Amino acid sequence: MLPDPNLAYESLIQFLYRAPIGLAQTALDGTVDMLNPMASSLLMPVARDAALDNMFAVLAQLAPGLRATVEAYAEPSGVVVDAMRLPLPGKQRTPNAPQVLSLSLMKIDPERLMFVVADATLEVRREQEMLSRRLRSAARTDALTRMPNREAVREQIEHLLARTAATLEAGGSFAVLLLNCDRFRQINDSLGQAVGDRLLVQIGERIRGTLRPPSDRLDPLGQGGQLAARIGGDEFVVVLDGMRAREDAERVAGRLLDAVARPYLIDGHDIVCGASLGLAWGAGTAATPDEVLRDAGIAMVEAKRAGGARQRAFEPAMRERAAQRAGIEHELRQALLEEQLFVVYQPVVGLLPDGGTDYAAAVEALVRWRHPQRGIVPPVEFIQVAEECGLIGALGDFVLERACRDFMDWQRLLGEHAPRLVAVNLSRAQLGQPGWIGAVQRILDATGMPPARLQLEVTESLAAQDQDIQQRLHELKALGLKLALDDFGTGYSSLSSLHLLPVDTVKIDRSFVSQADTSHHHQVLIEATVKVAQSLGMQTVAEGIETQSQADVVRAQACTKAQGYFYSRPLSSADLLAWLGERRPLAA
Ligand code: C2E
Ligand code: CA
Ligand code: CA
Repeated sequence: MLPDPNLAYESLIQFLYRAPIGLAQTALDGTVDMLNPMASSLLMPVARDAALDNMFAVLAQLAPGLRATVEAYAEPSGVVVDAMRLPLPGKQRTPNAPQVLSLSLMKIDPERLMFVVADATLEVRREQEMLSRRLRSAARTDALTRMPNREAVREQIEHLLARTAATLEAGGSFAVLLLNCDRFRQINDSLGQAVGDRLLVQIGERIRGTLRPPSDRLDPLGQGGQLAARIGGDEFVVVLDGMRAREDAERVAGRLLDAVARPYLIDGHDIVCGASLGLAWGAGTAATPDEVLRDAGIAMVEAKRAGGARQRAFEPAMRERAAQRAGIEHELRQALLEEQLFVVYQPVVGLLPDGGTDYAAAVEALVRWRHPQRGIVPPVEFIQVAEECGLIGALGDFVLERACRDFMDWQRLLGEHAPRLVAVNLSRAQLGQPGWIGAVQRILDATGMPPARLQLEVTESLAAQDQDIQQRLHELKALGLKLALDDFGTGYSSLSSLHLLPVDTVKIDRSFVSQADTSHHHQVLIEATVKVAQSLGMQTVAEGIETQSQADVVRAQACTKAQGYFYSRPLSSADLLAWLGERRPLAA
């Protein structure tokens, strides 16, 4: 049976009538033949005088060129306009009404047009949201490691702070771990930025690998969530949510440090780069993301100050210490400009095999600060600050040059009775500075100092550290200088690795020497050190001799030199000359 044509027509009309899309059929000049209810409801706000009898007139304002486009369309039928977006002017907008229309226009045959109008508001909004999400995520992603960046971390902490404040959670909270590489600058300087960049990428991967996935979601974290981010340079942050106990966060921190400290292989270079970590507890006193990050940063600096490769949890007292250091830093800059720093010299005497004492064997240069209010400040109170804030270079150069000049003056004044060696202390930050070896050479040239008369002292822990440092030490030796291993016995290198270091002298730390005459154990250690050093052709200096009996013990153990208050405190250059003058007959 054939379908009833009337019925088919009727259902088509019903469909057009109810369609959730606006349809209008018109003559070529836009005169409306047919318009469904959706079309009139969409176009009513657009039609100025509410007359919907000509589509070109209705759309004149929104799509002024439409009539011309149709006139220019020569084909007998086809798509004239495809899904053109028509934003409604602001004054025609009402809150829940459409704000953007989508218009398609077909030529059905040479006589008729079909307009298809739809509400594109939601679609456009979704597109815009997607675009802005993409932009936002780009703005919150670190380009190098593809990890979230500082902005993302701040947002995350903001969210967690708000939640903590709202729920006043008992117990469970979040922790912020800030991790800073211990010697990234040096690696970057010596191996180049490309290697540095790849190291950072690998560090990022180690950090992510240590956390439970997913570690880099940008969405607010649920309970137990984790976020790993790079917030700049060689600094990474991990946000741990849902921590029930501090120990849990500390355990994660320990795992992170272990993971980062494992050696890296990049471009054939074996690289070791430990890190220091500061931990700030979310439910602490910090009220803003920046404060939380600052606290974690302060704790990280404390971890670094304690020698690096460790973690520290933030405590409010650290904030005061940080402020104090900032004060010292400011004053120290002033001190360098205003020449408040000066150098004193402590005699280092030779212990002659015949039982005699060589008072002119050497001196050690020690820096002092004549503070306008505090008086004389000892180096323990400012050397570390100088290292941290980058002033150690200028400070070290000052001491080195002063010592060389004074040394040359003594030669002129005392001739063969002048000290034969001057020792100057070195910081690790100085060794790491690119171009520093050149600066040493310039100071030698400018002062006329014979390199063999200059001894640079590095601590045991520094010298043992890695290939780079040892390379620098070899470069210094190539200038003809002497090197001494300072504070021996306190660091982590041992007698068995002494032969690996390019040093001429081992200085046995005061903590051993001070017990030389009372503790058999310490005596044995000193004796062993002297024996090993002797076998390697190195000299030994016993530091911190305060009594006759300590002097007797180290002499009996065949230490080559001794230094300490027993012989003399550190002296000004003038006092040193007097001290030497008084002892000249004895030295003969
Ligand atoms: P250090 O290299 O181990 O220097 C020896 C320190 O022990 C000096 O303290 C010295 O005054 C002290 N000392 C010497 N004999 C005795 C003694 O018999 N008993 C006691 N109790 N102490 C004694 P100072 O001058 O306060 O220097 C402390 C540290 O500061 C030095 O330790 C050195 O590591 C560092 N330092 C000093 N001047 C400089 C410098 O110009 N540059 C760098 N980078 N570090 C420096
Ligand atoms: Ca020293
Ligand atoms: Ca020492």
